[in-house]
Amino acid sequence: MRRPLIVGNWKMHGSLQANESLVQGVVARWSGVHLAEVGVCPPAVYLSQVSQLLASTNIGCGAQDVSWAETGAYTGEISAAMLADVGCQYVIVGHSERREYHAESSELVARKFIAAQSAGLTPILCVGETLAQREADETLAVIGEQLQAAVELAGRKAMTAAVIAYEPVWAIGTGLTATPEQAQEVHEFIRDQLGEAGAAVRILYGGSVKPSNAAELFAQPDIDGALVGGASLNSEDFYRICQAAE
Ligand code: PEP
Repeated sequence: MRRPLIVGNWKMHGSLQANESLVQGVVARWSGVHLAEVGVCPPAVYLSQVSQLLASTNIGCGAQDVSWAETGAYTGEISAAMLADVGCQYVIVGHSERREYHAESSELVARKFIAAQSAGLTPILCVGETLAQREADETLAVIGEQLQAAVELAGRKAMTAAVIAYEPVWAIGTGLTATPEQAQEVHEFIRDQLGEAGAAVRILYGGSVKPSNAAELFAQPDIDGALVGGASLNSEDFYRICQAAE
């Protein structure tokens, strides 16, 4: 059985004070034993703070990006070992905002995926099509190419220890959500592409997930949870999404 997973992507939001009250709000609601696994990904500069606030809770901590390189002269970069050192368990790789604003190719994302796994982190590999690609009926081809780059470099077996997030670009931060059927179609395709490894890999949906649409998405057989942006900045909304995965 695949354990449901809900991960909050805080993007470039937060401050020492705001993080503390958000974490307190989430921890207070999510204490105890749960079926679903929960994590949050604050901005890199706050990872130490947030991982310390989460120590001895049942909520994990992750980063939003990682360098492909292990160590050395890479000004501004953060290695996977450094993320593990400050208490991260997960790292998001290939988020569409990084693919778009930082011109990250699928090959670079695959190298980040490998760097993460080499340091013992769980990569959350994001894939997703733009609206133009969906309208041109290219969704599955685009997802297939993004996935294949990681499979080629890391091997299919490596995917079982990873998490994949299907995030249609047109649904991120727009209030538009893929219908459960649209999301299920792509999740099923991703699982099929991975052959045997597909049965074990957790595939999250991301794109304007909110308390009002979470349950119908999670009811789909191939949706194992969510990567949540905007709604993860409100502890009550995030809690209600987590609860829908129970
Ligand atoms: C995201 O950025 O990963 C995301 C899914 O954002 P939102 O939930 O705000 O659409």
